[in-house]
Amino acid sequence: MEQDLIKLLEFDKNHLWHPYTSMSQLTVYPVRAAHGVHIELCDGTRLIDGMSSWWCMVHGYNHPELNAAVSGQLKSMAHVMFGGLTHAPAVELARRLVAMTPAGLEKVFYCDSGSVAVEVAAKMAIQFMQSTGYKNRTKLATVRGGYHGDTWHAMSVCDPETGMHSLYSGALPVQFFASRPSVPFAGEWDPGELNEMERLLERHSDEIAAVILEPVVQGAGGMWFYHPMYVKGVRELCDRYGVLFIADEIATGFGRTGKMFACEWADVTPDIMCLGKAITGGYMSFAAVMATDRVAAGISENPPYAFMHGPTFMGNPLACAVAGASLDLLARPETLDNIARIESQLKELLEPARRLPAVKEVRILGAIGVLELHRPVDMASVQRKCVENGVWIRPFGKLFYIMPPYIITDEQLETLCRAMIRITSEM
Ligand SMILES: *Cc1c(COP(=O)(O)O)cnc(C)c1O
Repeated sequence: MEQDLIKLLEFDKNHLWHPYTSMSQLTVYPVRAAHGVHIELCDGTRLIDGMSSWWCMVHGYNHPELNAAVSGQLKSMAHVMFGGLTHAPAVELARRLVAMTPAGLEKVFYCDSGSVAVEVAAKMAIQFMQSTGYKNRTKLATVRGGYHGDTWHAMSVCDPETGMHSLYSGALPVQFFASRPSVPFAGEWDPGELNEMERLLERHSDEIAAVILEPVVQGAGGMWFYHPMYVKGVRELCDRYGVLFIADEIATGFGRTGKMFACEWADVTPDIMCLGKAITGGYMSFAAVMATDRVAAGISENPPYAFMHGPTFMGNPLACAVAGASLDLLARPETLDNIARIESQLKELLEPARRLPAVKEVRILGAIGVLELHRPVDMASVQRKCVENGVWIRPFGKLFYIMPPYIITDEQLETLCRAMIRITSEM
């Protein structure tokens, strides 16, 4: 290895924290570039990215139109504060978001990241209740098995056991949990599934501001796909008990499940919707919280009139410009066609993994393919084998899954799936 690279890795090891890892037990692979679906390591190895860099890089790396949006915007301004000022990239992005999200979501709040979007959604729900005379409604309700991010309120609604945050449980706000919805996405719907959430709301709705769900697909909490009628049922229960419904579409939004938004499977409009991850096509951290006119009016027409949130980088022009370009690409008809093509190829190539002894279940929806294993994977060894097979996949727990960029070709997807099967058959 070159001397520079050795020094770089050594400094990384001594000084840098990486996500969800100990500083003393970690292997990282140095990357020098990324193009299309490929991540290029410093030793020249090219890996097909099966993760879309944690689900956000949906159009692939180094996309000419997204690059042009960023460099074009740089010529006028990289940033300007959003307090008292506005600009075309922010307005144009909002126009696109209002048009493409479920009907009724008319108001847009920009923020920094997915987790912050969840905080903003929780604050909106609580402030709405405060402003409209429901002072005791300060809690959230959700289902087990969820993941909503790493900040404070977001952590409090992650699965209390698998949610990676049990360490902090003593310090977090205590929320209400119903069981994880058990009927699978394409299973036979059982209305009894909703009984527990109904009882919870019946008993506690006077303390609850909102129910928050990842519609249809629970992501980092377990890669579980549940029945859309559950989402529809929760929407109806929220209306009946005067509770707001927050859809966390940070992972599911922008086509990943085969619809532009997972709420469309259930044909519902949430009161508040969180968007993140793929919103900038993976170019930078950015998020948006959408709300209905009713939520915005409840907050804006009652004291203190202002919604009490406003990050420094709110509506950052570079992020808005690249997000606008990313949504233009998404709006092309070939995007959803590509996702349908990916889904059918995943079904053909991953379904046979059911027969492997290490595999408990195979789940496929849209551009998501999941092998749930009987036992947790040995992460370091599986990661190494993936790299040896020319693919980048980062499993967690018992979940060996891919969420490839939508531009992936049949041939590249086949390489990914064959690598997964080969590695799993050796387990
Ligand atoms: C990733 C994720 C978040 C958190 O987003 P960050 O940008 O990582 O803060 C929240 N909710 C869901 C459903 C996610 O998948």
